[in-house]
Amino acid sequence: MRFASLGSGSQGNALVVEAGRTRLILDCGFTLQETEARLARAGLEPSGLAGIITTHEHGDHADGVLPLARRYGIPAWMTYGTLAALRDAGASLENCAIRLIDSQRAFAIGDVQVQPFTVPHDAREPVQYVLSDGASRLGVLTDVGCATAHIEASLSGCDALVLECNYDPDMLEGGPYPPSLKARIASRLGHLDNQTSAEILAALDRSRLKHVIAAHLSQSNNTPQLARAALAGALGCDPDWVSVATQEEGFSWREL
Ligand SMILES: [Zn+2]
Ligand SMILES: [Zn+2]
Repeated sequence: MRFASLGSGSQGNALVVEAGRTRLILDCGFTLQETEARLARAGLEPSGLAGIITTHEHGDHADGVLPLARRYGIPAWMTYGTLAALRDAGASLENCAIRLIDSQRAFAIGDVQVQPFTVPHDAREPVQYVLSDGASRLGVLTDVGCATAHIEASLSGCDALVLECNYDPDMLEGGPYPPSLKARIASRLGHLDNQTSAEILAALDRSRLKHVIAAHLSQSNNTPQLARAALAGALGCDPDWVSVATQEEGFSWREL
């Protein structure tokens, strides 16, 4: 099993995961042209994607999902709430193969086992995912306002984690955003700050962990150094061991 990010942050997110003969993309917050270019950079073609898995309807995760699904005939998996939110926002579902998921029930796409789990975030029916080839597990957690016991149970025992470190509280407080946006980000339905992310990590069974990647960093309210330091503190490791996903590059292939 291997995975790579095509980009991570409020300007767009997409993660590619391969297991056995199956390649999936998890979220797609880029235009079709941008997605094609970023896939090419990772050595991939859109036609090789067996499915698109969607976490929630926010544009940085979903803007590219339906265009990609339509253009290349790739089925897109999402909750009913996500589908309804996209439809209510005026998205065209024409010629898109939509597969509705139960937010609590595991399913398989080819050789990839997909376990969704529910999260607190200000979207209609948001989920995050653990992906597995039956031997290794990759846990993904972004766009979450606070820790829950359900999140910790879902991510415990993973071999790799992509973990939101959205903001540093002091930088958010003193930063350029208007008060309403600051309040939204810091709310229990907003995003994870570095310390809360570190607390989630500290609460997990980490005995199998081989990769930890800080993701969805705010370009205004965080720095890679602060995110790395927070997660390394929870792991008791050197900050350099923690990777950081960037908006432009994402991160390169990681093997499990
Ligand atoms: Zn997001
Ligand atoms: Zn979101």
